[in-house]
Amino acid sequence: MSKIKSADKCSGCGVTKSKTFWDYPNGTMLCDKCEKKFGNAWETKNSNSAAKMSGWLIFFIVTLVLSCLLNIYLGYSDIAGVLIYLNQPNAFNVYLILFADILIFGGIVVNYAYSAWLMSVRSSNAVPFTKLALVAFLVTNIISLAWLYKLGAEIPAAGDISRAFIYPIIWLGYLNSSKNVEEVYPVNSRKLKTLDYLLLIVPVVGAILMMFA
Ligand SMILES: [Zn+2]
Repeated sequence: MSKIKSADKCSGCGVTKSKTFWDYPNGTMLCDKCEKKFGNAWETKNSNSAAKMSGWLIFFIVTLVLSCLLNIYLGYSDIAGVLIYLNQPNAFNVYLILFADILIFGGIVVNYAYSAWLMSVRSSNAVPFTKLALVAFLVTNIISLAWLYKLGAEIPAAGDISRAFIYPIIWLGYLNSSKNVEEVYPVNSRKLKTLDYLLLIVPVVGAILMMFA
């Protein structure tokens, strides 16, 4: 007696051959073509809307939005501070710092805004993207701090340290262990898209560039 293995079949067009099949919380799946065409609408329609978001989860999404606003402010003041030096003879270095700053702060702002949106609409890439956005933030901060240390700059204030390290570590722990997160974003339907990796790496690239300035 042989077991019948259920074959992957697109719930949209019925195709059985596709490089990837996209799973949705209610057990349906889409082929690559259908996913591109109407994946977002399908996801909204077939999302696991039964599980309610807990207060902690909503609070976390709010902190993502607040981090976003805070980093717009920090990036703005940082860039304004660099712009003063544009008339100096070593302008190339100033442009490099400027570019790196834009990548770092722009990347963090976009990643957190996108995370907040993905978590709110219960997208299939919400949890993996947000986790990696927190990791990217952590790595960016470690590189930046190492660079400051090398320059002999003073040690950042306790508030900066907690924002840079404690915030991402605490919420990574929460995303990994919360039962509510598991219910709202079913594990078997989580999937990252190629573009996600590109977005995630932007602030890290900025921090690395900064070391050459
Ligand atoms: Zn299809």
